[in-house]
Amino acid sequence: MNLVLFGPPGSGKGTQAERLRNKWKLRHISTGDLLREAVAAKSELGQRVESVLASGQLVSDDIILGLMRDAILAVKKDATLSGWLLDGFPRTVGQAKGLDALLAETGSRIDAIVVLDATRDAVIERLSGRRTCTQCKTVYHVKYNPTRVDGVCDKCGGKVVQREDDRPETIARRLDVYEAQTRPILAHYEGRVATNVIDGDLPVDDVTAKIERVLHSPGGRTAA
Ligand code: ADP
Ligand code: AMP
Repeated sequence: MNLVLFGPPGSGKGTQAERLRNKWKLRHISTGDLLREAVAAKSELGQRVESVLASGQLVSDDIILGLMRDAILAVKKDATLSGWLLDGFPRTVGQAKGLDALLAETGSRIDAIVVLDATRDAVIERLSGRRTCTQCKTVYHVKYNPTRVDGVCDKCGGKVVQREDDRPETIARRLDVYEAQTRPILAHYEGRVATNVIDGDLPVDDVTAKIERVLHSPGGRTAA
């Protein structure tokens, strides 16, 4: 099964992806995580994109489509996986068209799009309070999901910090970019891919339960 988790920054895509991936045997592919890994590794790609991430703007479609091509082909070769779970991609109409071409080439399809529809106030509060482990990347929230010991990851003991782009000015820019460049993509899939809108303002467990329900319902997935 191939899924796209769609929604503004802070709507809970990464949180839900972590819960869905094991159960459905999916590879969680987050373009944001891939780019942050490149920045941390100081690779050539990382050096090219570092300032773009810090500013809250989007990295070019060419770079993103190159990363996704490798990631999707790797899943195709891995017999232990049943598909992928995209988080933070596609983010522009150009990326959606590039993904169409990649799917046609590999004989795959998107089985469902899950839209986490969260209000601006909710996502601002979540992004402002989000903290991330620098080592294992587990995501916390100072209020909704705090670490047991301040600044220390419960899972691996790594240092838990605030992401550079989770600061107020950058959060506002990222939400504006989402409205201008990413939300319009949904029209691209209308009538072609089953699209399920879920209230992303609900507590984490309720959102997971609703996603599970649509994935099990006959209309929740794209007809063959
Ligand atoms: P995204 O991947 O869409 O940017 P995250 O999954 O990283 O979003 O979630 C953003 C922040 O909000 C994190 O700190 C996470 O712990 C918290 N969070 C996620 N889902 C919920 C929810 N349903 N209710 C409250 N907080 C949430
Ligand atoms: P995210 O972790 O999804 O919130 O992404 C963090 C940042 O990485 C974004 O603000 C962009 O700068 C960059 N990014 C992640 N995914 C994409 C994408 N699909 N297209 C362009 N830029 C991206």
